[in-house]
Amino acid sequence: MSRFRMYPSLAQAERMLTHCAHARYVWNLAVEQHAYWMPGRRSAPGFAEQCRQLTEVRRENEWLGSGNADVQQQALKDFARAKSSRFTSGFGEPTWRRKHVHEGFRVIGTDRVPEYHVDGSPKVNAKTGRQVMGRSVVVQRLNRRWAQVKVPGCGWVRFRLSAKGNGAQLPEAKTFRVTFRNGQWHIAFAVIPDPVPAPGTDTVIGVDRGVTITAALSDGRRLNCPQLTVKERARIRKHQRRAARAPKGSPAKAAERAKVAGLRAREANRRKDWCEKTSTMLARSYGLIRFEKLNIKTMTRSAKGTVEQPGSGVAQKSGLNRAILAQGWGLLRQRTGHKAPGRVEDVPAPYTSLRCSACGWIDKNSRKSQAGFVCSSCGFTCNADTNASINVAAGQGGIFRPRRTAGAGGTTPPNHRSSVREPQPIWVGIPLF
Ligand SMILES: [Zn+2]
Repeated sequence: MSRFRMYPSLAQAERMLTHCAHARYVWNLAVEQHAYWMPGRRSAPGFAEQCRQLTEVRRENEWLGSGNADVQQQALKDFARAKSSRFTSGFGEPTWRRKHVHEGFRVIGTDRVPEYHVDGSPKVNAKTGRQVMGRSVVVQRLNRRWAQVKVPGCGWVRFRLSAKGNGAQLPEAKTFRVTFRNGQWHIAFAVIPDPVPAPGTDTVIGVDRGVTITAALSDGRRLNCPQLTVKERARIRKHQRRAARAPKGSPAKAAERAKVAGLRAREANRRKDWCEKTSTMLARSYGLIRFEKLNIKTMTRSAKGTVEQPGSGVAQKSGLNRAILAQGWGLLRQRTGHKAPGRVEDVPAPYTSLRCSACGWIDKNSRKSQAGFVCSSCGFTCNADTNASINVAAGQGGIFRPRRTAGAGGTTPPNHRSSVREPQPIWVGIPLF
């Protein structure tokens, strides 16, 4: 991704914040229009109709009319795209954007450049017979480290070419997005990065994701996602405490909260950085990367329960949820998928941690402690996470067969299965429990 830190002047930052406010206002209007729809009503206005309405609103409303029309129209376009891809994007239905939280706007390039097909031949408009002219953002390099970009109403805004390698080149994009979060401005150019070249070998690596070790690889390596240090966590608590004690609505309270947000942003940045580097490493050095299939959404479900039936261990569960989300499991899988398209597989997770990677025996007694794995059948000894990742690399967990009787005089527990069953996974020679 071509994302850079932006350094606007004070006046520019002020104008860009107004852009953010306009884009958010227009987006929320669109959300409201679509939320009003229900069966029996006429369908909510689409992009073209909304653009017409926007022109009208800009004429009547001076605050909105003083803003940049392109920025506002792009907010509508963003909404249309979010709406049409709501089933596939993973974000679901477009929702409200909030002040201080979702600050950002999209800018469409003003430069016109001739467009070409992938094979290099010019794209020609079938009706007019002339070459198609595409949009391009106006970017200028200042020196090795700095460049500037045209933002409507703000003139040239400087940004730092921070990343090595890819970042040293000026990005070529049709649009870019500016965001303001935790006191920092960023610019992200809409370019799809080239996939990382495959190593050309058929090496397979299995990745087992866990809480104590973020990613255990099947070659025995254990990678850890950096977290906040003990000192930084203590600082968060200090500022939270000061914020709680400051008078309501005071500038001191806001300042303490901003410090907490800054530290949290640092944690997120560290996590993202680690995920990017690790996923590039995986994509570059292995032909096939296998992850165990995790449903993080259900894993991090709250234990809170309902008012009538409160759950148990709510605080512990929420702590575990926080620990899971702090590992960046989902991001690592997603970015690896982007960088190595077609070379990432998801392996069903059940029993990958209980199966012996040497003999295939599945027994929960093999895992007496959190870290150690000692096979109860063949005596194979290994780190538990590494053992699981070897199973993942082999592409199998296992199929657990429950005992049919529960000991002497016991009853067979009902297993809620009908006698007519769907085709079951093929049994792969793992000894019965
Ligand atoms: Zn074994």
